[in-house]
Amino acid sequence: MNIVILSRNPHLYSTQRLVEEAKKRDHRVEVIDPLKCDIIIEREKPTIYYKDRYLDYVDAVIPRIGASITFYGCAVVRQFEMMGAFSIVSSGSILRSRDKLKSLQLLSKAGIGMPKTVFTNYSRDAKEVLAHVGGAPVIIKLLEGTQGLGVVLAETKNAAESVLEAFNGLEARVIVQEFIKEAKGADLRALVVDGQVVGAMKRQGKDGEFRSNLHRGGSANIIKLNEDELRLAMESARALKLPVCGVDMLQSARGPLLLEVNSTPGLEGIEDATGKNIAKAIISFIERNKR
Ligand code: ADP
Repeated sequence: MNIVILSRNPHLYSTQRLVEEAKKRDHRVEVIDPLKCDIIIEREKPTIYYKDRYLDYVDAVIPRIGASITFYGCAVVRQFEMMGAFSIVSSGSILRSRDKLKSLQLLSKAGIGMPKTVFTNYSRDAKEVLAHVGGAPVIIKLLEGTQGLGVVLAETKNAAESVLEAFNGLEARVIVQEFIKEAKGADLRALVVDGQVVGAMKRQGKDGEFRSNLHRGGSANIIKLNEDELRLAMESARALKLPVCGVDMLQSARGPLLLEVNSTPGLEGIEDATGKNIAKAIISFIERNKR
């Protein structure tokens, strides 16, 4: 098969691992920077032009589209779809998953447990918003944040009100969320491939840190998910139509609660922590769908 990995950086761990596993299984594989693709649209002959050639021979694509290039990256994935190539996650699903608020709305409709969350317009009174989630302590998150940046724990009512007012003043869109204390600075990441959990890790924030992101100095260990956690991961993936994704959840007194679903999950942390060959699972998923 001809497989294209859409990635801005061929040296990233995830990209390299996918190339390696595709080659091991005798596929032709190329890493292509989506921002360097021209999308050519004409009647019945959609195509993509990249470095002096047309990419009209591609069987499958693996999108590794960073948040900052969502719009153009998804347009390139969509063009490959128009050309009949298989994408491990569709352009529409990636776009949907990038909208944190929309994703939470869809997931709650699908019956997925999550921390109680409020989204409000800038003008609303901070006190009312806090009351909706049961008062301080609360988590306040920038809707556009990633890697734990833009996630604040406001421990008191006063702190929460001033953080909200500050964000409002900046016209930044935020969600306010019930703080899940029992999670103790840890979260779970389940890696889903072909709708099934193929590996899971528990990430623990460093001392005194409520955020468990590895980018914030957290550490990760393999974990065996219980049935509720497995079900939450697979149902979340299904609700957002993401056959391949990373599902983050918190362990709470009332069972697992969904945090977010990532449509371009990194492979390094999870392969390291679990010793599982996730890249190979992704290539096999493509083989099952293309042949
Ligand atoms: P990002 O997408 O920027 O990583 P997250 O929503 O995943 O933001 O939050 C970052 C980290 O903060 C999570 O991994 C988790 O450890 C912690 N966290 C987030 N929301 C809550 C919450 N409601 N209660 C307790 N901890 C939380």
